[in-house]
Amino acid sequence: MAEKSCVIIGASHAGVSLALQLRKEGWTGAIRLIGVEPELPYHRPPLSKDFLSGAKTLDGIALRPRKSFEDNAIELLLGHEAVAINPAAHSVQLQDGSEMPYSQLALCTGSRVRRLPEAERFANVFYIRTAADVARLSAQLAPGKRALIIGAGYIGLEAAAVLVKQQLDVTVLEMADRILQRVTGPILSAYLEAVHTAAGVHLHTATGIKAIEGGTNAEYVICTDGNRHAADLLIIGIGIEPETRLAAAAGLEVEQGIVVDSHARTSDLCIFAAGDCTRHPSLLYGISLRLESVQNATDQARVAAANMAGKAIQYDAVPWFWSDQYTVKLQTAGIHSGYDNVVVRGDATDPASAGFALFYRLGERLLAVDCVNRPKEFMVSKQLLKLGAQPVAASLRDESQEPASWLQTF
Ligand SMILES: Cc1cc2nc3c(=O)[nH]c(=O)nc-3n(C[C@H](O)[C@H](O)[C@H](O)COP(=O)(O)OP(=O)(O)OC[C@H]3O[C@@H](n4cnc5c(N)ncnc54)[C@H](O)[C@@H]3O)c2cc1C
Repeated sequence: MAEKSCVIIGASHAGVSLALQLRKEGWTGAIRLIGVEPELPYHRPPLSKDFLSGAKTLDGIALRPRKSFEDNAIELLLGHEAVAINPAAHSVQLQDGSEMPYSQLALCTGSRVRRLPEAERFANVFYIRTAADVARLSAQLAPGKRALIIGAGYIGLEAAAVLVKQQLDVTVLEMADRILQRVTGPILSAYLEAVHTAAGVHLHTATGIKAIEGGTNAEYVICTDGNRHAADLLIIGIGIEPETRLAAAAGLEVEQGIVVDSHARTSDLCIFAAGDCTRHPSLLYGISLRLESVQNATDQARVAAANMAGKAIQYDAVPWFWSDQYTVKLQTAGIHSGYDNVVVRGDATDPASAGFALFYRLGERLLAVDCVNRPKEFMVSKQLLKLGAQPVAASLRDESQEPASWLQTF
């Protein structure tokens, strides 16, 4: 077996967080961070926000300056793909055929976009997952062009907000009855539908794709509702798949995500995993979760690093996420699935609302919260969620009560 050395596959939010934390935990051996993308690791969320709009450059969204990696003796192997893991030999094989030994391995392989087979043959089809994807898309944007976005999840909607501001003619097609169906409740969906419609986006829900017509480029999308939409460019945002192929081929337990325990350890004692690619037990909710968020990637990676360095720490952070669309700053915490009532604070019906918070509860227990331009409510709710609190509906609703007061009873 190799000298004490850590190999991390995937150089994004989870991989970078893990590498830096491992050093902080006192790891003295080598740390090698392998990433197939050639760019210095960067923040991924701006890809559908400030980077797409041009407000930020690639340098402006770097996760860390190159010097941070040098100062921490983290060897960056960018533009390199790991193609196989040999758990028995404790080694990783790279695309160039070289072998890299490890004493501990971390898989931070993230996710890849779900592709739409009907769209594959056309040249004007775009996905938004990497900086290279966005550079390619940005080169095609111009006022007046017709952008058709397939999928009204967060990424499709954020792209819609940017493109309509750049005066493209934007249409969003969504198969489900409402936008964001997978991730939020009907009140927030209806509010955001109104916001997008007011901004000039044409939204069509309950609309599947029947066919795409065109030559080199896609020209028309034919929908199951009988509509035919002309397009100059097509953006597909229909979700992601956890990148588990290496793990599965190495014989690790995989179940819609690399299965890890609460210590971020896989079914192999020397292999940890963190971020989008994992499925972990949630101590807070008592279910197994696969999350797609920066919070999960960085926090779970820190736990993995501590445990790789010999500690025994459990991952039990409250999940949270954000999305920016126009002036809407959405912050969400917790997992809303299974809720049976919603308490509304503020006005969630007016697209011009100054802000509101939606508290999803099961009986009296708070499960999750969606906050629109309500940072105080968000911060306090995260603490309530951590406590497993049962805040009183009347005080959540009552705007004269400061959010901080909710904590006094717990
Ligand atoms: C456009 C966009 C907007 C988003 N907005 C938000 C937001 O507002 N808020 C939020 O919380 N989250 C947001 N997310 C989600 C968030 O970015 C992800 O949850 C986060 O990036 C996960 O980090 P990760 O390190 O686990 O995986 P990833 O960021 O997917 O990184 C995995 C890395 O591993 C590399 N890799 C994979 N396999 C190999 C291999 N075999 N060899 C070498 N390298 C490999 C990949 O190329 C990639 O660089 C957004 C995501 C996107 C795409």
